[in-house]
Amino acid sequence: MSPTLRPSKIVCVGRNYAAHAAELGNDVPAEPILFLKPPSALIGPGEAIVLPPGAGRVDYEGEVGVLIGRRASRVREKEALDFVKGIVPVNDVTARELQRMDSQWTRAKGFDTFCPVGDPVPPEKVDLERLTVVTRLNGEERQRGRADQMVFSIPFLISFISHIMTLEPGDLVATGTPEGIGPLAEGDVVEVELPGLSSLVNPVLAGKES
Ligand code: MG
Repeated sequence: MSPTLRPSKIVCVGRNYAAHAAELGNDVPAEPILFLKPPSALIGPGEAIVLPPGAGRVDYEGEVGVLIGRRASRVREKEALDFVKGIVPVNDVTARELQRMDSQWTRAKGFDTFCPVGDPVPPEKVDLERLTVVTRLNGEERQRGRADQMVFSIPFLISFISHIMTLEPGDLVATGTPEGIGPLAEGDVVEVELPGLSSLVNPVLAGKES
């Protein structure tokens, strides 16, 4: 597990870019779709994403992550950014066939190594209007999304989630992936970059049967 991050929970947002919802045949939701990844899925930069034997297709999902710095309960949208300690690149690795098979996504999203997270950038160094996430597979660009293309903005999401569950210092919010998701194979190298801010690179290994 990443030594720098010890979240009590990782809260993820589904279908937060219209073009990505469309590429998987989904509509944009009226309210944010939330799910959780377990902290045991965390890995840091340079650590390997392990493809679980028998899990079928496993996809990268490059995302903007938000690291919580102060306890946030029922916070208003306009004050939500006061509770942010850092912005991080996140890869919401997903076993796509298992996601389609199950009515909820705990298994598909929760395998060990399925939450690579990069080094945090202090929020005062980030222009949220221009914040961009780029995913490269073996050096080739596959995803590029801007925060201003999100269906639900980062402040809205923090406020929305904090009205359901208290966000604790160290918790992580993954804000959804833009279009261009695709499969990973053994030997791949996947990078999620917040250009000019932080880069997350992880190799991909095939797991062994046991
Ligand atoms: Mg995602």
